[in-house]
Amino acid sequence: MTAVRQEGGIVLIDAGMAFPDEEMPGIDLVLPDFSYLRDHRDELRGIVLTHGHEDHVGALPYLLREFADVPVYGTRLTLGLVRPKLAEFGIKRADLREVKAGDTIDVSNFGLEFINVNHSIPDAVAIALRTAAGIVVFSGDYKVDLTPIEGAPMDLSRYAALGEEGVLAYFGDSTNSERPGYVPSERVVGETFNEVFETAQGRIIVASFASHIHRISQVVEAAKQHGRLVGVTGRSMIRNVQIARELGYLDLPQEMYVDQRDVNQIPDSDIVILTTGSQGEPMAALSRIAAGTHRTIEAGPGDVVIISATPVPGNERGVSRTINSLMKRGAEVLYTPLRAVHVSGHAAREEQKLVLSLLKPRYLVPVHGEFRHLRHHAETGVGMGIPRENIFVLENGDRMEFRDGKARKIEPVPAGMFLVDAGTVADTSESIMRERQQLSEEGMFIVVARINAQTGDLLGPPDVISRGFVDPQAQNGLVDESIGVVTNTLQRTASSHVTDWGELKKAIRKDLSGFLSQKTRKRPIILPLIVEV
Ligand SMILES: [Zn+2]
Ligand SMILES: [Zn+2]
Repeated sequence: MTAVRQEGGIVLIDAGMAFPDEEMPGIDLVLPDFSYLRDHRDELRGIVLTHGHEDHVGALPYLLREFADVPVYGTRLTLGLVRPKLAEFGIKRADLREVKAGDTIDVSNFGLEFINVNHSIPDAVAIALRTAAGIVVFSGDYKVDLTPIEGAPMDLSRYAALGEEGVLAYFGDSTNSERPGYVPSERVVGETFNEVFETAQGRIIVASFASHIHRISQVVEAAKQHGRLVGVTGRSMIRNVQIARELGYLDLPQEMYVDQRDVNQIPDSDIVILTTGSQGEPMAALSRIAAGTHRTIEAGPGDVVIISATPVPGNERGVSRTINSLMKRGAEVLYTPLRAVHVSGHAAREEQKLVLSLLKPRYLVPVHGEFRHLRHHAETGVGMGIPRENIFVLENGDRMEFRDGKARKIEPVPAGMFLVDAGTVADTSESIMRERQQLSEEGMFIVVARINAQTGDLLGPPDVISRGFVDPQAQNGLVDESIGVVTNTLQRTASSHVTDWGELKKAIRKDLSGFLSQKTRKRPIILPLIVEV
């Protein structure tokens, strides 16, 4: 999410969310901090979306809950994907305004131009923003595909024209800046699909991102050529296939479509099944197929499963688990780099250079990627002759000011992450995250002690219950010893007449935690409960 502000208002480029990493157990998604926007509520003139991926539109429902009247600009498919999400949130009267590549519109005193780019979702655009300070180009997510599956190659001629006119600043996608060369065309994947469909005898199952309509479309084309019907499973896959068909982005005739409940009525050699789960997500359809718990779909000997995606960093283990489970069931599993069943949707270094050579921006701001990717993009810029002092590698919350043709970094705005836990937005609470992590890794001990309210004397041995801590056999011995430790603690506190609950709990925690960490090198959460009698 990037806010561009000038006299006359603010436009927002994208409103994405992130998925939680392993250090955020129990968190569903991560939102940007809206406090800067709240502070400038009256200035927000429009939200402009580059494409329909979650990391660009996922925060929109949360944003519109607070800024319901702000117009949202996006292409047809982008808005088509956004609409059902808003409906899920009960947002009925969003002001969605459809644009298409090539359009120029005015939003307040900003001039906006939407420029066609190629990406792993159709209808993606870059945005050229005409401001009082000059032209600022936001690449969105892009690659240069000269033979795209649908639509035109990226509109490099517009980039060249803007470059001639003079571009003040370029905010460019850095995802693949460490990767040399060019990213191959999406068509390469279709060729592999054809080879696989040519020889496969049993079922073919293809897992991909549900938003990758081009990929899905290539599966459908291969199915047409080889006389297979198309089954669809996984909630988001079913939904996106439906949206893409309705909006005309996917040519899948009804007579080829097989509901997931009916797949077993079709001979294995006559069907291909599209599924979610390319990231090894535990609840996704492919993971359930791999685990043998999918309601209707199984995979076994003779079947071919294509993982048509690469794991997003952090998902490698889940994907690997899925591949192993499928192989144990006897299925053949195809994935990159062993087979060309996936290509990236983000420009590699030579494409980034091409764009820089056309736009010739005075300032380069690498965006979208980890810090190391931004740095590499910056180096590419230096290699292209952009002065180092004209390249700004920013972090969330950083602010740049353009004045009289010059850029400088000014004081940052609040930009913490907001974590969404079961639908409610919470401030980032490190202590809660730490506690969840401790619970999942170290387990928990509950101590229930009954004591005499007057004297603080222990009435009978305390109860100790443990969860998620070492294996049950070893646990029994530990629990017995723990009872001894707590008994000693409470006898000691009673003899020094401690009756304050807080003090008692502190003493129990300290002694028990010392004992357990010495015995097991673990530090479980210890929850002392004191019952006064
Ligand atoms: Zn993205
Ligand atoms: Zn994207």
